[in-house]
Amino acid sequence: MSFDATILSSPIEYLKGVGPLRADLLKKELQIFTFKDLLDHFPLRHIDKTKVNTIASVNQSMDYVQVAGTITEIVTLGENRSKRLVATLRDATGEMELVWFRGIQYIGKGIEVGRPYLVFGKPGYFNSTLQITHPEMENYTPEKAGGRSWLEPVYPSTEKLKIKSLGGRQIGKLTSGLVSSLTERDLPENLPESIVRHFGFPTRFEAYSRIHFPASEPEYKAAVDRLRFEELFIAQLRMGLIRLERHRYSKGVVFAQVGELFNTFYHQYLPFALTGAQKRVLKEIRQDMAHGRQMNRLLQGDVGSGKTMVALLAMLLAADNGFQSGLMAPTEILATQHYTGITGLLKDMPVNVALLTGSTKAAERKKILKGLAAGEIHLLIGTHALLEEKVAFQNLGLAIIDEQHRFGVEQRARLWKKAAIPPHILVMTATPIPRTLAMTAYGDLDYSIIDEMPPGRKPITTVHRYEYARASVMDFIRSEIDKGRQAYIIFPLIEESEKLDLENLMRGYENVKAFFPEPKFWISMVHGKQTPDVKETNMQRFVRHDTQIMVSTTVIEVGVNVPNASVMVIESAEKFGLSQLHQLRGRVGRGSEKSFCILLTGPQITNEARERLKTMCATNDGFLIAEKDLELRGPGDIEGTRQSGMLNFKLADIVRDKSWLDAAKQFAESVVVTDPSLQSAENLRLKAYLHSQKGKHAWSKIS
Ligand code: ADP
Ligand code: MG
Repeated sequence: MSFDATILSSPIEYLKGVGPLRADLLKKELQIFTFKDLLDHFPLRHIDKTKVNTIASVNQSMDYVQVAGTITEIVTLGENRSKRLVATLRDATGEMELVWFRGIQYIGKGIEVGRPYLVFGKPGYFNSTLQITHPEMENYTPEKAGGRSWLEPVYPSTEKLKIKSLGGRQIGKLTSGLVSSLTERDLPENLPESIVRHFGFPTRFEAYSRIHFPASEPEYKAAVDRLRFEELFIAQLRMGLIRLERHRYSKGVVFAQVGELFNTFYHQYLPFALTGAQKRVLKEIRQDMAHGRQMNRLLQGDVGSGKTMVALLAMLLAADNGFQSGLMAPTEILATQHYTGITGLLKDMPVNVALLTGSTKAAERKKILKGLAAGEIHLLIGTHALLEEKVAFQNLGLAIIDEQHRFGVEQRARLWKKAAIPPHILVMTATPIPRTLAMTAYGDLDYSIIDEMPPGRKPITTVHRYEYARASVMDFIRSEIDKGRQAYIIFPLIEESEKLDLENLMRGYENVKAFFPEPKFWISMVHGKQTPDVKETNMQRFVRHDTQIMVSTTVIEVGVNVPNASVMVIESAEKFGLSQLHQLRGRVGRGSEKSFCILLTGPQITNEARERLKTMCATNDGFLIAEKDLELRGPGDIEGTRQSGMLNFKLADIVRDKSWLDAAKQFAESVVVTDPSLQSAENLRLKAYLHSQKGKHAWSKIS
């Protein structure tokens, strides 16, 4: 059996009516490269063209209307930019205007006074006159209205495409041509018969034709349901199989014993008692590593929940068993901070720790690489510099990735290759992802969660303040500094212009300086345009409490730990997403003092931004915030999931389609349990389908 073969994998330029020029645009604007991509370019909605509205019944709240009437008058009005063609359309119930700003001459010639037309478009009012701008027009004959019994698809397009005659309607024409040239053989069934029957789904071929050109609303809905289910089911099945394969076959190094290093550290140097959650997670990790198969575990824990200590203990366990570990952080600042913290904790222990980043000097680097190869370095901490091929370990047993969302799946896979038997992998993320989402996004990973904060933390008080209250906010910072505390002031990065961002930050810095003059106060500033050295120096001055205020862009977002800081001011807070706000807030509340987060905004903010600020003020719970974020933005945008490759569904939305997701999971699981090699007659099509998709996903390992 062949899936989506030959015709559907043809390059889009070969489709009738496309050609090289339009193909280029389709590729650039809509990522449509093949016939199949066009088939997967689904309509936004359908318009019922069987319905003709009376003009009297039309009002502005209607999305689209179709009216039939006679043109009674046609004139050109206005000059220059407001020059327009205005036609009056009348039916038995009333009148309305049709207006064109572009193509005036051409359209004017085509329209005849006294003739009946069928007119279609979005109604609106201008100077309290009902009108449609740039309507679609057709000659009207009564037979025509009755003769149609279909829904017309409306496709997403872009301005650029519209200019080149590839607007929604033209895309519809191309799609229509494509669909009518296809047969069942081009889109064979891929779901097991029992599933198709269970849900009463249309066949795959039917579903694809009907999602574009349904005869009725229910037919459309059934097509969408089927394709949604298919998407979710195939994704779940794939991950289920990968997981199973890993559990069954992947070899892992065995960390059989809890030894000297772990025990000594645990009993003599651990600066605090572990929380229950930390202990539980550590146990889960230990179990993974003791059983001869490779660990691939995602550790989720809110900011400040103490993931680093879990990582350190796991690395000691590796050392106890004669293996090296690597700890990888997304920024130099963070890697350096881990290094400083960990070497501090291990200073009286016989463990060699090294730091390797992009700015490690050549001589030092050489020494480190030698030490690694010789097995003399037990823990290597660093940035993605660790991934470079030259970085060769003697026997890497455990790789830990801190703050997952900056690392993609591919980078994770590169770590596997650093040892003969792939090292255990622990991925730690502070971006709380709702559980369902995590299971879907990282279904190929096992999952641990630290859902408890270390004791003694005082909740952070969060408030929203408007610009005009800036002076009192600064007074508040001063009062905290007078008590010996420190403060962060964060400025947003708006990707559109680095230059503007920097200017904005500089202005902010001068402003803060005016409130906090030297030599009584000292201010650190860190931003993305600085060299790592400068960043580091400024950061360290703040860490050492040589400066009381840190003015920065979001470079400090991830992981930085200065327990003495008690105030976080976020400038233009309306410009940040929820998870980012939460991450930033997590920089304070790390010590024993009461901490504050102040969200500063201008007077005008959107409802959605207001909702975000409200959520921040109402709760400190990262998981609640993640749920809210999901609700506000949808899963595609959730930080930490973008790279998972599992959430870019074309049709399905794992929040809205939760019940389909559950069903898909259940059916996929049952296939994984009963017929993991997909050998039964019923599952052969699944096997063939997965095979045909191989290579389309980097993480697909099914053979
Ligand atoms: P994150 O999970 O955000 O990486 P960290 O590992 O940086 O959190 O821990 C935050 C702070 O909490 C650190 O100062 C750390 O020493 C402290 N900490 C971690 N675990 C505990 C614990 N069980 N009891 C008290 N403090 C802890
Ligand atoms: Mg951390």
